[in-house]
Amino acid sequence: MTFRENANISTGRASRGGGGGTGLAVGGGLGALVLALVVLLLGGDPGQVLGGGQSSSPVAQENTDLQECRSGADANADVDCRMKATMVSLEDYWTQVLPDAPATESVLFSGGVETGCGSATSAVGPFYCPLDSRIYLDTSFFNQLEGQLGADGGAFSQMYVLAHEYGHHVQNHTGALQASRQDTQGPESGAVRVELQADCFAGAWAGNATATTDDAGTALLEPLSRQDIESALSAAAAVGDDSIQEQVQGEVTPHTWTHGSSEQRMGWFLRGYESGDAGTCDVLNAASVDDFNG
Ligand SMILES: [Zn+2]
Repeated sequence: MTFRENANISTGRASRGGGGGTGLAVGGGLGALVLALVVLLLGGDPGQVLGGGQSSSPVAQENTDLQECRSGADANADVDCRMKATMVSLEDYWTQVLPDAPATESVLFSGGVETGCGSATSAVGPFYCPLDSRIYLDTSFFNQLEGQLGADGGAFSQMYVLAHEYGHHVQNHTGALQASRQDTQGPESGAVRVELQADCFAGAWAGNATATTDDAGTALLEPLSRQDIESALSAAAAVGDDSIQEQVQGEVTPHTWTHGSSEQRMGWFLRGYESGDAGTCDVLNAASVDDFNG
């Protein structure tokens, strides 16, 4: 159990998009947009993503009506409601840190979805589209995160994923997101720094998450356990470039990194978590992406 059973999550900015079909046509002239989208993926090798695969429909898709996600108890019982509830917590935190930042929402889809960045299928994994300022997530990704990639499957491993994507929305507001377009790959690249900052932002939220409240001032989350943090770390490790490259290509090639290593992703998450201060997440100006300890 993560959310307080009686917390009100009905204000969560989450909607349902897309619906079923895969194999959406991608219109002409979307090259740059598709690239921008790929760069912002949570993890994974773009070559693998664009090569397709993963076209099968997820099993046991629940397709909960998000209107029915009303309480923390719902969030503890159902992954879609958990995402909606996590949005309440993320918005509460980031509204305090950056009152001027515009709102975002998460769009939960299955199969495929039309976005301001073009068409996407579930194969691309969770992503943030800077052009429409929305987070897109097919929760069937969590099966892959746990099964194929090796995260522990705890609720907080899923919440970390959404918090990371929310971090990209924050970066869209601060301007940091630009760095990933200007310097797209390599171990110290802008792209990697942007991704590690999003991990650090996820950690900063986690460090404050138990203080986030619903509209009535009720705490949303139970105090985080050590296991919750280990769940988040297991997800951060699972989507490290070195871990994924080892699986996909059988060797690690840092010159093609876009997200940072497992150790770096865990390190920056922990920096944010332990400081509880998003201001410590200045990865873009760090001398090295390995400087997560100070
Ligand atoms: Zn990302």
